[in-house]
Amino acid sequence: MHPTKGYAAKSKTSPLAPFSFERRDPGPTDIQIDILFCGVCHSDLHTVRGEWGGTIFPCVPGHEIVGRVVKVGQEVKKFREGDLAAVGCMVDSCRACANCRENLEQFCDNGPVFTYNSKDKHTGGNTYGGYSQSIVVDQDFVLRISDKLDLAATAPLLCAGITTYSPLRHWKIGKGHKVGVVGLGGLGHMGVKFANAFGAQVALFTTSPNKTADAKKLGAHEVILSKNEEEMEKHEKSFDFILDTVSAPHDLDAYLSLLKRDGTLVLVGASPDPLAVDAFSLIHRRRSLAGSLIGGIAETQEMLDYCAEHGIVCDIEKISIDQINEAYERMLKSDVKYRFVIDMASL
Ligand code: NAP
Ligand code: ZN
Ligand code: ZN
Repeated sequence: MHPTKGYAAKSKTSPLAPFSFERRDPGPTDIQIDILFCGVCHSDLHTVRGEWGGTIFPCVPGHEIVGRVVKVGQEVKKFREGDLAAVGCMVDSCRACANCRENLEQFCDNGPVFTYNSKDKHTGGNTYGGYSQSIVVDQDFVLRISDKLDLAATAPLLCAGITTYSPLRHWKIGKGHKVGVVGLGGLGHMGVKFANAFGAQVALFTTSPNKTADAKKLGAHEVILSKNEEEMEKHEKSFDFILDTVSAPHDLDAYLSLLKRDGTLVLVGASPDPLAVDAFSLIHRRRSLAGSLIGGIAETQEMLDYCAEHGIVCDIEKISIDQINEAYERMLKSDVKYRFVIDMASL
């Protein structure tokens, strides 16, 4: 074991503060990474504030991790000391169940080991995430990243990137589709970029009129102010697919009514409170309401390679670790352009 510094919440009402803990030394298939940047996901906030229930404290959040390999176990083939490397939302899974065998570790029947707030089978405690100096992860859950892309702006691809890429691929979104993205935050801005890159006609739904110009720059062909009922009604029955990234309760029926026959609304936003649905919103026009959780390791690597090939990164605001509590308050006011990334040199 070796000591590591990080930032943790001690309870659901306490702000994040400096915290020291131990990481395991790398075993034969492990990689030790010095963390350079870590993105700030709204899931970090939901978790440390106990909004979803089940948070184990102290909690060190962070699952958009990029850094440099400093040590590798003797059986590690994929990485060498000095390489860039990344870690996303998972650090392990059972690798044997049907879902793991299909490269869908996020749906592991025995529970994926999430990067933070999961049971850590090595230490017997819980896993601690990327708001920290270093992390030790089995090589199968470490991703390769390009040295041609901005490193800090690459970090949020590990969650915001894969969470939007995966459903767009699963539902085969491309040319000829009219796609809506709801909410222009960390996930939403990547949803807009990917849907545009895949060739779809993209509309962004926002509650923030001041994001209109940015949304167009990010790749939206159209921006719809969701609080304006008249504007919403003009788009009735016109969408093939809507990706909903909203982090709080909101009116799903207002979006379902915009879908064409057989259209699908996919929730990736994870409101802590249940969302109501009018049965007729689905029955009429045989619409579907679905959900999607991050993406498997192979697909995460595919997404990172796609981003390297197409020069896609996130639009970020770099912060130092002591600004994290303020960043959470801004996130709650939808004031993120469009992902905070912590520069770990500040720790
Ligand atoms: P974020 O950066 O805070 O963005 C959320 C956006 O939703 C806001 O910028 C805002 O956009 C809109 N919004 C917020 N509150 C709203 C409200 N009350 N009504 C309507 N719109 C509202 O958050 P994020 O990091 O992108 O995460 C979004 C959600 O996805 C969170 O719940 C997070 O936990 C979840 N998530 C899920 C997965 C998964 O695998 N499914 C993975 C990562 C995150 P506008 O200002 O444009 O309206
Ligand atoms: Zn996340
Ligand atoms: Zn499994």
